[in-house]
Amino acid sequence: MNTPITKTEILAWLRETDPQRLEELWRRANETRRAHVGDAVFLRGLVEVSNFCARQCFYCGLRAGNTRLVRYRMRADEISEAANQAVALGFGTVVLQGGEDYGLQTQWMADIIRRIKTETPLAVTLSLGERPDSDLKSWREAGADRYLLRFETSDRNLFEEIHPPLGNRPCDRIAMLRRLKELGYETGSGVMVGIPGQSYESLANDILLFRELDLDMIGIGPFIPHPATPLGMGLPIFSPSKNHQVPNSELLVYKAVALTRLLRPDANIPATTALATLNKTNGRDLGLRRGANVFMPNLTPHKYRRFYEIYPSKACITEPKNQRADLAGQMQAIGRHIGTGPGGRKKQVRLAPDSWETELNLA
Ligand code: SAM
Ligand code: SF4
Repeated sequence: MNTPITKTEILAWLRETDPQRLEELWRRANETRRAHVGDAVFLRGLVEVSNFCARQCFYCGLRAGNTRLVRYRMRADEISEAANQAVALGFGTVVLQGGEDYGLQTQWMADIIRRIKTETPLAVTLSLGERPDSDLKSWREAGADRYLLRFETSDRNLFEEIHPPLGNRPCDRIAMLRRLKELGYETGSGVMVGIPGQSYESLANDILLFRELDLDMIGIGPFIPHPATPLGMGLPIFSPSKNHQVPNSELLVYKAVALTRLLRPDANIPATTALATLNKTNGRDLGLRRGANVFMPNLTPHKYRRFYEIYPSKACITEPKNQRADLAGQMQAIGRHIGTGPGGRKKQVRLAPDSWETELNLA
């Protein structure tokens, strides 16, 4: 029987500063991870297909208003080649991510997805922003398996301040996650930790919302200011008082990852690139030791990588070329191994609020 973790406890952990007490949180998260998803680390090959974006998110360097950024859109053959590289490296999934770029036309994307699904055994994950229902439907029919869309913060007012709508289309990422599930996608979401204006209470609510939405994948990374964005320029927005503002620190990210693992024992949780950017030496490995079970090596061709500048100094830009043996060795060094196959969520059927039935592998 799991003892449910309450919002008061989540808040206490988020504010905890005693390293010895925190060891207890890391231990619990690691044990929960091992018991529910095992020691395998699933590798998802990340392909940043386009850095064009129609949106003006106040946090992101790809926002349309950043006119200094050199823009690119990968060709279809380059995307196929990156998918083949994922197969050669033994990955089970390719993630096609980009700005909300309507130059990635519906049918063109559908053809690429169909080609990858026909020619490789890969699971295909999309992360292409708030595209209309008709696009999501068409890509699902072409074979896309999963969709990632972070809700960024569960604080509605804060979200509206930092994520302007596109034209007169309403912006409701949580409703879109529900719609993605109806279309049969495995759904992933997540948040940034330490967005200006984010309080401890709202981060606790984010973690509780992960459970309520029954997400398959949950990505949590630090907010990293980009100088060409309103938040990076220090634009004053509605802010909690100093004592309530969540810092965008490595420690807070580990805490959020560990608590998420306790609340969502069977979810796939990546050690994110943004975390590895804050601590290039061992941020990824500490994330994997504190609840995470997924890592997303970058397969974007090197000539494009530096232009996918969501925030400055991204860890993957200097990352050496991924080699299967190196990755296997790195995982072994932390007592883990590389997972095989697509590594979809092992769904646990929730019967009563706190009891868990046996696993039903949906991969
Ligand atoms: N355009 C798609 C979207 O917004 O869902 C996918 C690409 S977007 C660059 C992927 C994620 O990057 C966002 O969901 C956001 O959480 C994260 N991101 C954007 N700007 C960031 C920043 N300054 N620091 C950390 N993460 C950031
Ligand atoms: Fe575009 Fe996504 Fe960046 Fe927003 S977060 S500006 S939608 S790429």
